[in-house]
Amino acid sequence: MIVQCCVCKQVRNEKGWVPPDRQASVKDISHGYCPECAQRAFEAIRRYHALKNAAKSVAAL
Ligand SMILES: [Zn+2]
Repeated sequence: MIVQCCVCKQVRNEKGWVPPDRQASVKDISHGYCPECAQRAFEAIRRYHALKNAAKSVAAL
């Protein structure tokens, strides 16, 4: 079973995250986030919530 990043499509092996090479031959594949994309997704979620909270406080005025 290997893990593939659902954003940049890199796969994780014993060396770390690498571009996919034999992806077609892999059947047991699990999707997740590599550290870089996890960070980016986390930032996006944080920005989204910050915007929502900002909109809420503006509406409350
Ligand atoms: Zn990624």
